Formats: sequence, structure tokens, C-alpha cells
Amino acid sequence: MTEVKVTVVIRGGSVVGPDGLRRADVALAGPVVVALEETIDAPAGAVVLDARGCLVGPGLVDLHTHLRQPGREEAETVESGARAAALGGYTAVVAMPNTEPAIDSAGVARDVLALGRAALAEVAVSGAITLGRAGKALAPLGELAALGVQLFTDDGAGVQDGALMRRALDYAKGLGVTLAQHCEDDYLAGGGAMHEGCWSSRLGLPGIPAAAEESMVARDIQLVRLTGAPVHFLHLSTGGSVEQAKREGLPVTAEAAPHHMLLTHAEVVGYDPVFKVNPPLRTESDVTAVIEGLCDGTIDAVATDHAPHAPESKDVPFDLAPPGMLGLQTALPIAWQVLSPTLGPQRIFALMSAAPAAIARLRGTDPRPAGHSAHGGPLEAGAAANICIFDPSATTVVDLSRLASRSRNTPYVGRSFTGAVRHTILRGEPVVIDAVAQR
Ligand SMILES: [Zn+2]
Repeated sequence: MTEVKVTVVIRGGSVVGPDGLRRADVALAGPVVVALEETIDAPAGAVVLDARGCLVGPGLVDLHTHLRQPGREEAETVESGARAAALGGYTAVVAMPNTEPAIDSAGVARDVLALGRAALAEVAVSGAITLGRAGKALAPLGELAALGVQLFTDDGAGVQDGALMRRALDYAKGLGVTLAQHCEDDYLAGGGAMHEGCWSSRLGLPGIPAAAEESMVARDIQLVRLTGAPVHFLHLSTGGSVEQAKREGLPVTAEAAPHHMLLTHAEVVGYDPVFKVNPPLRTESDVTAVIEGLCDGTIDAVATDHAPHAPESKDVPFDLAPPGMLGLQTALPIAWQVLSPTLGPQRIFALMSAAPAAIARLRGTDPRPAGHSAHGGPLEAGAAANICIFDPSATTVVDLSRLASRSRNTPYVGRSFTGAVRHTILRGEPVVIDAVAQR
């Protein structure tokens, strides 16, 4: 420690490691963790962050963020979305490719990556599987992979054509990248607006049966068997089908969103479009299945599906509104509240940091796009200083004035959750201190 210049000391917290908690101060020198010791004296000029009572974990990684740029800057930009991410404890997000134009060429991917360079969280991108996400012809996967793109998805829509999906998987396998599927059979979903069940009948809204999701999961599991290529299942709202694939040892991973761990289709009772998401909010037993899946490892990661929509686009009748809700600033408090009765801090951080970082190939040993650092921990000497400091005894009260997103479509206004993100450190820079963005 004598030859390095310590720039930040995180004092008094409990460091979340893969094997449990360790009471330690943490010293950073520029973008690197240099020491964890019981007490570290801060040299003159170093920033000291108070972490007493807090968990000091690896920065969170979101596999599923809609940043809306290019094309829908009134709803979100790379800058505003990354700011929301930092306030939520995230140090890296994977931007979804359903922009306008879609991220289906190296040019668009390069633009989004460039916009991310000065942002408060690192921005990786997913590329589209098909040109324009139209499901007809493959996007130039190789050209995108050469830029460091590791995940590909037509999210917002599933790839309906099984033969095209099979070809995409063959290419992906050769390139060493992963296809991520939005599991929805368009024919079964049939333009539905909410989960098909007792509430859709009562409310007179067209329903989307759970089978629309489960049948595509089942088809893709068959395609994984056929091709040997990995598939990541986006925002699962039910748990069952993935369990079978995991038992067989197939290379499948899955994520679930905080709203599917907390809310049911009964929320739609007032026809408020803020509760319209895709996949839709489902039943109590589906919520239980998602939580169980996260707890038993069937579902690998929590991903926000942060989906901003400008107020005017949501200010329409429920069945006409676009699906999606904000997620980045509420994900960790919701996950903490729902999962901490069953899972310890290390498992919750793993679901939100190490596991998604591994799926997105953002870990220490992974090749990364130029300028990107390693995410997912573990926090030890030599690790990249991407850190989330979370106070489990504080409370997050969801207040519109504190949301960094350009949009306002959160269903949680006025609600409170257990725990609050206190500080976020990106490449050694405290970008959020005491829940306030620093630039
Ligand atoms: Zn989706």
C-alpha cells in the first residue's frame, strides 16, 4: 500500500464476498481495489465514504435495460438511463437493441457504445438477432460480435420462425456469443394486453396465456439440444420449463424481473397502463414460482427490464398502451425485500452482479470492449473498483422527484421498500454518494 496512491477509502462496512460477509475497510487506488483491512487510514486528499451499517458489494449488472436511444430520446437517453442505473447501485447495464433504428449493425452499436463512454454506468449492448428485429433475415452477428457484443436478442418480440432461430444458434455457437430470447409465441399471445385468467375475464381485456411464454421456452430448449448453442431466457414470468432443461445440464440461463417477484394481474383492476408489462403480471402462484426459481437457482439472475415510456405514450387506454415500467432505481430494494427472508446477502448480490456479469461476459477474465472494466466481483485486492454500497436498514421511498429517468412510468410511487443504495463507485470514481449523483 505504500507505493500506490489511495484515492478512496470505504469505511466501516461489511464486504459481501462469495463465501459470506467480512467486516473490512476498502481502499481504492484509481480504478482498482488495493486493500481490504480491518482499519485503513485515509491519506490526505482521499475521499472517505461512510459505509457503517452497509453492505459493500460488487456493482450490480443489469442484463435488460431499455435506454431508448437512438429514436426515443423523449423517453430515455443513454445518459439518463445510466444515471438511473448508478442511483440503483448498477455499474454496468446491457442496452437492449429495440431502438429506432434497431441495434442490428455495427454502426448503431458503435454509436450507443460511444454515448456510454461518459455515462455514470458502463453501457454494453445487445445486438438484434434479425434485421430490424423483423424476424425475417439474420442480422450481421459476426460484425457485431467483432465489436465485443456478447448477447443478441429481438427483445420486444420473440423469434417466431424456429428454422431461423436454429440458424441463428448455429452462427452464435461459432462466434461464441449467446442468444437471449423474449419468449412469446405471437399467435398464442394474439394481441393480448394482460395475463389470461380470472382478471382478464372480469376486466374484459384480451389475455395472453402463460402457454405463449412456456411454448417458446420449450421450443428453444429443443433447439439448444439440437445445436448445442447456449440460450438465455429473458424476463421469465413462470418457472417450470427451465427446471427440466437445467436438470439435463443444457447450456441455458434465465432471468426474472423484480415486478414479476412482487406484483400480480390483480393490479390491473383500475385499468392503469403503468401495470401493463410484457410478459404480463401473472398469478400469485406464478409470483411464488419466480421467487422459488431465484432461490433454488433455476433462474440465474435478476434483470430489471427497465422500460421507460414518455407520459403521453402511456396516457392511453390500457389495451393500447405500450408495455413496460421503470426498474433500475427500485430493483435492489425490491429484490432485498422479497428475497432476504430466504437468501443471504451474498446470494442476492450474486443474482444481481456476479451471475448477470457472467451471462453478459463482463467478468474479470472475459474479453471486453475497449474502455470497459470488469464487473461482478469478487471485491479483493486487484479487482476493478466497481462497487455498490447498500444500507439494508434504510428505507427506499419511491419519489418521482428522485427518479433520474426521463420517464415516469413506475407503479411504485409512494411505496417504500426495505434497504437503500447509498453509494455507487464506477472504476474507482464515487458517482453516487449518499444517494446523490455526483455529476
Ligand atoms: Zn422482452
